[in-house]
Amino acid sequence: MHRKSRYVAGGSAAADFSWRSEPDRRPSAPVGGMRKILELDGISKRFGALLAMENLSAHLNEGEALGVIGPNGSGKTTMFNIITGITRADSGRVFLEGTEITRLPAFERCRRGIARSFQIPHPFAGMTVFENLLVGAAFGDGKPERAAYDRCVEILRETGLFAKSNVRAGTLTLLDRKRLELARALATNPRVLLLDEIAGGLTEKECRLLVEEIGRIRERGVSIIWIEHVVHALLAVVDRLLVINFGRMIDDGDPHKIIASRAVKDIYMGQEDDTIQPA
Ligand code: ADP
Ligand code: MG
Repeated sequence: MHRKSRYVAGGSAAADFSWRSEPDRRPSAPVGGMRKILELDGISKRFGALLAMENLSAHLNEGEALGVIGPNGSGKTTMFNIITGITRADSGRVFLEGTEITRLPAFERCRRGIARSFQIPHPFAGMTVFENLLVGAAFGDGKPERAAYDRCVEILRETGLFAKSNVRAGTLTLLDRKRLELARALATNPRVLLLDEIAGGLTEKECRLLVEEIGRIRERGVSIIWIEHVVHALLAVVDRLLVINFGRMIDDGDPHKIIASRAVKDIYMGQEDDTIQPA
């Protein structure tokens, strides 16, 4: 980010971000009454000898909230990395609204409406909360200066971070870092929001607030994929659930039925935490 001035909520932004071109957004045909906003077709990914993803096909319908569960190391985050362009698949294709995006760089996918939170929050630690959001709104979404600024203020209010606007992100608590992950993604004005274990480490009350927030985002028409071990939080929001193990699809369907299924119990057997205990 090339800039000389420091942005402060309530102050004035000096840079011009209006260089960005409008993305090409082609509508896709409805499939079976539901429009697929995102689709993975036969994705495989190898890290050396490790096959992290094996011929995985999945989709997200427009307006849907899709949950993803699977043991640690099963390839969930790799799936997000492939959707967002951080990792390139060895084979298979990714589509956004019917347009192939497999080879697009990450920033271009963000411009087209895909945003994510990271499992381990890594904000721009030396920048303020507001500046972190501004990166999302100005560079991620390409909003001109004034619109980017307004969008950030709106998101700060919505995510409960307004009072911390001018705090350096590196000094935030875990809850606020998680909020910032979400806020930063929202600042890019996504149509597809990918959440990676955003409830982990939060108290019950914090978790409930997060679930409410995600519910509100969803009501505004944002399509969501949420990877989460805190299953009772997940079940409060999602319409459909995917189970992944060893980079392969194990199940896809009704969340409550899947959680109660033999396959899920077998996968998680031996785990001592409460990862698959629905409330
Ligand atoms: P999950 O999110 O389900 O816990 P990940 O997608 O992070 O799992 O990882 C799946 C597997 O791929 C793990 O064994 C992990 O160590 C490996 N892996 C992920 N990213 C890389 C990478 N960049 N280099 C090497 N191995 C990786
Ligand atoms: Mg992960």
